[in-house]
Amino acid sequence: MSIISVKDVSYKYRDDADEAVRGVSFEVDEGEFVAILGSNGSGKSTLAKLVNALFVPTAGSVTVCGIDTRDEARTWDVRAACGMVFQNPDNQIVATIVEEDVAFGLENMGVEPREIRRRVDGALAAVGMGEFSKSAPHMLSGGQKQRVAIAGVLAMKPRVIVFDESTAMLDPVGRAEVIEVVRRLNREEGVTVLWITHFMDEAAQAGRILVIDRGEIRLSGAPRDVFRRSGLLKQSGLDVPEMTALAQTLRAGGLDIRDDILTVDEMVVELCRLKSAT
Ligand code: ADP
Ligand code: MG
Repeated sequence: MSIISVKDVSYKYRDDADEAVRGVSFEVDEGEFVAILGSNGSGKSTLAKLVNALFVPTAGSVTVCGIDTRDEARTWDVRAACGMVFQNPDNQIVATIVEEDVAFGLENMGVEPREIRRRVDGALAAVGMGEFSKSAPHMLSGGQKQRVAIAGVLAMKPRVIVFDESTAMLDPVGRAEVIEVVRRLNREEGVTVLWITHFMDEAAQAGRILVIDRGEIRLSGAPRDVFRRSGLLKQSGLDVPEMTALAQTLRAGGLDIRDDILTVDEMVVELCRLKSAT
């Protein structure tokens, strides 16, 4: 059964405004890692908030872990099942000590102190921040702060986490740290991930990509299949990963190279194959 089910969903910020999300439908199975790729203003954050029950659809329905987000009595169940990590780490950290920050949500829920201790330690370990439990968040790097924010969400034991451009403000090292942590949570803990991004190479790491443009899903499929459609992506204001673009250029120049290369490693293997074939 799908853990997220979005059916014919539209959303308007005001009655007289255009729809920010328009007729969107998709399903996500438990344990999937799905990227939502779109340029600035395409409707990604609106969609994220619809999945997290921060917004209720103007039309259509969103179901998370079997709960319809229109059911107001269960809004908090949706938010507990589906955590969200935002773009700016500084806006998400509320306490002056890392472990207190991670405990914040649990304290608000009235979880008992021993259980809080256990969950905070577990969550910090899961993001590789155990040794920073007594640190002051403002002393941490952007990537470390974002890992603390993820720990705060993890402590609530969500089955789904929506990341809304959670690496956009980080330097390359911070980006890599966060992606590594999220991939491990998905692989080893079975957390379902909805990864919202405008970075092509991040989307390439997902199991499946949904491309959103002007509020509508234009393309969906495995990264290889999506990035083969560079013409359609351009119309959505998007590009392809660097290695895919290189392969496509070489191919247009007459080299018999695969057109679905995503990474440097794949490029190396393919170039070696071509060399040994000549
Ligand atoms: P993205 O996250 O992909 O950049 P958003 O979901 O934030 O896109 O925005 C989608 C559309 O909705 C844009 O046209 C944007 O201007 C509009 N929008 C976003 N937030 C608001 C808001 N609070 N009030 C009115 N319009 C909004
Ligand atoms: Mg956004």
